[in-house]
Parts: sequence; structure tokens; C-alpha cells
Amino acid sequence: AAPPPRPHVVLVASPGAGHLIPMAELARRLVARHGLAATVVTFPDPSAPSAAAPSSVLSSLGAAGVSTAALPAVALDDLPVDAHIETVLLELIGRSIPHLRAMLRDIRSSARLAALVPDFFCSTVLPLAAEPGLPAYIFFPGNLTTLSLMRSAVELNDGAAPGELRDLPADALRLPGGVSLRREDYGDGFRDSKQPVYAHLIEEGRRYRAADGFLVNTFHEIEPGNVEDLKQVVEQGTFPPAYPVGPLVRPSFGEDDVSLACFEWLDRQPAGSVVYVSFGSAGALSAEQTAELAAGLEHSGHRFLWVVRMPSLDGANNNFAAMDNKDDPLAWLPKGFLERTSSRGLAVAAWAPQVRVLSHSATVAFVSHCGWNSTLESVANGVPMIAWPLYAEQGVNATVLSENVGVALRLRARADGLVAREEITAAVRELMDGEEKGRAVRCRARDLQRAAAHACAPGGSSWQMLEEVAGKWKAAALGRQQEQ
Ligand code: UDP
Repeated sequence: AAPPPRPHVVLVASPGAGHLIPMAELARRLVARHGLAATVVTFPDPSAPSAAAPSSVLSSLGAAGVSTAALPAVALDDLPVDAHIETVLLELIGRSIPHLRAMLRDIRSSARLAALVPDFFCSTVLPLAAEPGLPAYIFFPGNLTTLSLMRSAVELNDGAAPGELRDLPADALRLPGGVSLRREDYGDGFRDSKQPVYAHLIEEGRRYRAADGFLVNTFHEIEPGNVEDLKQVVEQGTFPPAYPVGPLVRPSFGEDDVSLACFEWLDRQPAGSVVYVSFGSAGALSAEQTAELAAGLEHSGHRFLWVVRMPSLDGANNNFAAMDNKDDPLAWLPKGFLERTSSRGLAVAAWAPQVRVLSHSATVAFVSHCGWNSTLESVANGVPMIAWPLYAEQGVNATVLSENVGVALRLRARADGLVAREEITAAVRELMDGEEKGRAVRCRARDLQRAAAHACAPGGSSWQMLEEVAGKWKAAALGRQQEQ
């Protein structure tokens, strides 16, 4: 007889490449290694898609045996034009619930459901698991430190004497695993309770309590202190247990002209000589800061591959509002820069196939905004970083990487906010050639690469966590079937 169909996990990804990419990899592993079937559900992207990335991520899932399903568009035109990106996302997700309910009903009509896994922005989806009595786990694409920051904010807000993070002394927030966070590194969402995004994040965090657990894109050796410590602290608080299941890093996608140009160029560079510079899917620098970075790279004398984005003209350090701007960002580079550096630098507009760039033998350092996916991709390839956090929880990541894990050197801005060219040049030179700090960070990157590979291999710590959770889901699905 044919084997019974596999229990089916429904994963719900909020818009944004940084959310979808690791969730797609989670789905792929659940199917390839842990005996489950999976569907990844997506929302229409409210900001114009930054590149073809998300659709190519989705199309690659079919080959891995993972189904995909897209929710229909919902109206958002009543929101203020300057609404914060988090506010827009949470509204989009909230308004899509009826569509998702119908979709789940459809999937249930032909499959045995095992679990519902919304990502960290989709906790409004959790109650849908209660209707068929499914386990519900939040996928957290960040790390445990960011999760404990979220927990601290929620507990402070809901405590006997309600407060907020910014009331704490500027350098006083101590998180599990020996992380001390400065106030400027909390992330913009938690900076001020008067902003609507703050209330949204607190509500989101409160809803986490309804989940059965978190699947966190991290692994034992990259979190400071140890994961057990962090897990206990999360559990002793008001949040459900957290399972580190990462690093969830997937191969790069797409073979477009930019990819070809990058690889043709990288192939011509000596092994271990190129500094890769990129600020994720939405990071943006001012025009002045872009010029400063250009000068810093030029003066470092090192080879570089720089993914240049349109400068932000309004002072924001992300360009969510201008994602569909089709102007040429290279036109904003300082006059003569491209010509002067043509023998050792390549600047590409907007997007590069990052995972493949990081895994290329020529690439040896990464100037990064410290998005957690970028961080894990760097770690998985043994590439040390220069930390240049811009927005969201990137300051938390930069702190962990530079002060606790020791795999990055952190750039410091001047009092006026600008990261000076001298600072950039010095950091690049230290990371590439430094005999003390630079050497320590380079060695740490190699150690961490080995640890990351081990964590995800069969029998490794992250593999075991996922196997444990998948086992619970399968047992629960079987139990429900027997009751029927
Ligand atoms: N990415 C890429 N090419 C780029 C910029 C980003 O492939 O030019 C990918 C990158 O590899 C990562 C994701 O987009 O997987 C960005 O996620 P991250 O968490 O680093 O940052 P975010 O964009 O969410 O700030």
C-alpha cells in the first residue's frame, strides 16, 4: 500500500526577503530531513519588491518538494502615507486573516495538518491554529538576544510599575548570555513608546505567549554565553520555549546579468583579497555617507565588491519608501571614483547574489549592516565582518558580533552620525591585515564556520532541535487522526 501522506506544516512568511529566505530554508529542511510536508504562505509585498529575489526563492521551493501559496491583496490605502513599515506590515497581516483562514481550510481538506508556523511578524495568525487544535510555533528569523530584548520590553511595559526600555540608564540593559546593550542599539521600534510602531511591537510580543514555542534562526556557538542559559531565561519569563534551529542559510538564486558580472570579476581576483560591502535588502546611506564610504574604501587600498543603493535623501537609514526607484545608484558615487578604482573595485547597483559572493574564494571580509541573515551567511562561509548597523535590530546584532562573539569589528560614527572615511579605512585595513584585533576576528570566523556546519549536520545541536520539534508535531497529528 502507498505510505500515508506526510503530516503537513503550514508556514506563514511576512513580506520581506529577510523573512522569507530563512523560512523557505526551514521548510526545505522539514521536508528533506524531518519527514514532513510543507506549504509556505506569502502575502503580497506592500513595498514594491526590492528585486526578483522573493519570487525566485519561491520558485526554487517547488523543486525541493515544498508547496507555496500566495494570499490575495488587501486594501491599505487608508493608512497614512508616512506610516512606519512595521505598522504597514502588521495592518496587512491583520487584514489578511480571513483569507488565510479560508486557505487553511482548503489545505486541511486534502492534507493532515501538523503545525502552524507564522513568522515573528505574523503572531495575529496564531489563533487560527486553535480552531483545528494545531501546535503553533513562531519562526523567529533573528537571534535569541533579540528575542530576549523583545521579552524585556513586553515585561517592562506590562509590569507592576509600567516602564519602557529607554527609561533604563543608557548602558544598563543586561541580557542573558552576558550581552550589555547601549540604548542607541535597542532598535528604532523600541526607542520611543509614543511612536505607533512601539505599541505594535509590544502587542506582537504579547501575542507570542499564545505560541507553543519559537524556532529561532541561531545556533549554540554564536549566541554569547550559552544557549541553555538563554533558553532558561526566556522560559522563566513569560515567553514560550525557544529552539535554536539555525543557521538557516540557503544557496543563492538567480543567474541574471548582475550575477554574471560579479562572478566574472570575482574569478579574476586573487583568493582571499576582496572586501564585500552590502547593506541588505533595504539599508540606505545618505549621499554624504556614500561619498565617505567610497573614499574610505579607496584609501584602504584593498579590492572591493560594493552593492550600491540609491542614497536616502530624507536622512532615513532604510529606503523602504523608495524601493521602486529605478534611478542608477552608481551615478551618485563621487566623481572619478569608479575610474580611479577600476583595477581593484567593482560597484554593482542594488543587488548581488550574496550567498554565492560570500562563498567565493576571492571574498574574505564583509562590511555589513548586520541583518541576521547576512550575518549567518557570512558566518557559514567563514567571512569576518565590519559591523555597520543601520536600523531595526541591527544594533543588537552588531553588539553581539563585535563584543560577545568576536567575529566583527564595529565602526563608530562621529557625534554628527557620520562614519568618517578614516574610520572605514582603518577598519578595513585592521580586518584584512591587522595582527591583533584583526587576526583574532579572522580566527574566530573560521572557528564559527566549523561550528555552524556542525550544528546543522545530522546529529548536530540545531538538527536535533528540529528533529525534536518535528517529532512532537508528527505525534500530535497522529493523535488527532486517531481521535477522529
Ligand atoms: N541579499 C542578497 N543580495 C543583496 C542584498 C541582500 O542576496 O544585494 C539577501 C541576503 O543574502 C540575505 C537577505 O537578502 O539573505 C537580507 O537579509 P538580512 O537579514 O541580512 O537583511 P535585511 O534585508 O532583512 O535587512
